Amino acid sequence: MNPNRPSATIEDYLGVIYTRNRDGERVIAARLAESLDVSPPTVTATLRRMQRDGWVSLTSEKEIFLTEVGQAAAMSVIKRHMLTEWILSRMLKLPLSELHREAHHIEHTLSAEVADRIRVEMDGPRVCPHGNPLPGFEGEVQHWLPLSEASPGQEVTLMRIHEKLEGNYEMMTFLESKGLIPGAVLHVREILPFNETVGVLINGQEVILGLRLAEEIYVSG
Ligand SMILES: [Zn+2]
Ligand SMILES: [Zn+2]
Repeated sequence: MNPNRPSATIEDYLGVIYTRNRDGERVIAARLAESLDVSPPTVTATLRRMQRDGWVSLTSEKEIFLTEVGQAAAMSVIKRHMLTEWILSRMLKLPLSELHREAHHIEHTLSAEVADRIRVEMDGPRVCPHGNPLPGFEGEVQHWLPLSEASPGQEVTLMRIHEKLEGNYEMMTFLESKGLIPGAVLHVREILPFNETVGVLINGQEVILGLRLAEEIYVSG
């Protein structure tokens, strides 16, 4: 077992595996290569190292699971990431679209002690500024529904933009420019599965979203 903190690269892998497992997805090397934007051979080599160092275990079907220490390390880096996002948002007033990539650089160097200190200073947030749950607070977001499952005519509050979208700067900038950020109140106008679009009204303006995008945006009724 490795008693030290894993490298930044390993922390990135651990974070992605944790989030995928949390969402009930089957995690295999090919998926990781996509999410981390690295080549499949690189993923294979890194996973081999992670297995050797006790962070992950692989089933005979090549499904990837975190070990107990891997799980703890993943929870630690995600917590540091999300709390850094809060600092950047509240203290430096960075736009929502920039929080994820900026926090991504800082998270690896932050100590657990400073992370705990930030958590207290930020009044103990249970979700990140995008509405994704801090590890251990997954229950907080369970009753929010994907926007794609809302009913036409319904007024809803945007609660969460899934981690999958956080790193997509173009998409985040688009959402932000339309006011589609956590806390925004939307009127659901129409959901057209055959057209794969969702139309919402926000601040008197109509915005058309793709169904796939609407599936990653969560609302409360
Ligand atoms: Zn993030
Ligand atoms: Zn976030």
